[in-house]
Amino acid sequence: MKISELFKSGKPVLSFEVFPPKKDSSVESITAAIDELAQLRPAYISVTYGAGGNTANTFTRDIAAHIKNDCGIEAMAHITCVNNSKEEVLTVMDSFAEAGIENILALRGDINPNVPPKTDFRHASELITFIRSDPKYDNIGISGACYPEGHTEADSLTADILNLRKKVEAGAEELITQLFFDNAFFYDFREKSVIAGINVPISAGIMPVTSKSQIERMVTMCGASLPQKFVRMVTKYESRPEALIDAGIAYAADQITDLLSNGVDGIHIYTMNNPYVARRIVEIVGKLL
Ligand code: FAD
Repeated sequence: MKISELFKSGKPVLSFEVFPPKKDSSVESITAAIDELAQLRPAYISVTYGAGGNTANTFTRDIAAHIKNDCGIEAMAHITCVNNSKEEVLTVMDSFAEAGIENILALRGDINPNVPPKTDFRHASELITFIRSDPKYDNIGISGACYPEGHTEADSLTADILNLRKKVEAGAEELITQLFFDNAFFYDFREKSVIAGINVPISAGIMPVTSKSQIERMVTMCGASLPQKFVRMVTKYESRPEALIDAGIAYAADQITDLLSNGVDGIHIYTMNNPYVARRIVEIVGKLL
């Protein structure tokens, strides 16, 4: 089923994101975590796509196939185009389709300063146009990424939203946001997107923070702002790892409660492959969905 169908019920859609294991590991190394996440019955689980070559991307397919075919949960496989030619995209798309995967998150991917990008696609919208031009993939649902604080390369939030509109016009049927820790950014972004004519569902990406190093890594990667309230929490509990996990879960649950109260279309939890944290959050907000 296309993910966009899930939004038609009018109820907020809960989804999870997982990432594949390192390339010298195996899919089986994370199957137990995936199975536990699946028991929480999210509407779908998405699987990230590495820039790390064929093995990593085979893992993306195999994990998404496991979610869909063995766990009975709708799966979304991410795919990036920055390091893929058109031919390579078709190969990956066909392997997804053969594995029964019906949904993708179409991304450009981050540009690695040490690896010149391939030139077939400059933006995710071009990847979406390319996939949509082939009737073979008509039954594949396509989602796209969006950035409540603006993408790090964009001149302004407005410029980024105008580019985002091109992604939706190309055929993205749902959007998932980058993680954020201050809901005000999401509400401002959502309002501006509607004014710009973007009328597809937008799921809010929420990352429960469980360690200080995780926050530092994430903020370096995606540039999310850290509100004072959040910084105070991390500073207070950074030397007590178990307390920080509880505080991170409480913070994420509070963000989600506020988003649900304000009519968000969906909540996409960046689970970091951690079923314990996802379970605790679902216990708190599950009845609000
Ligand atoms: P684009 O939509 O192409 O946007 C990139 C930049 O180009 C933006 O600044 C935008 O404003 C600009 N732009 C877009 N279109 C145009 C245009 N037509 N003309 C001029 N400028 C334009 N990365 C991975 O490697 N693997 C993953 O699995 C992965 N999953 C992700 C999941 C989510 C929910 C999110 C939010 C991000 C994910 N990323 C992943 C990171 C993503 O690849 C990076 O953020 C990347 O830098 C941008 O990808 P994009 O698809 O948003 O790019």
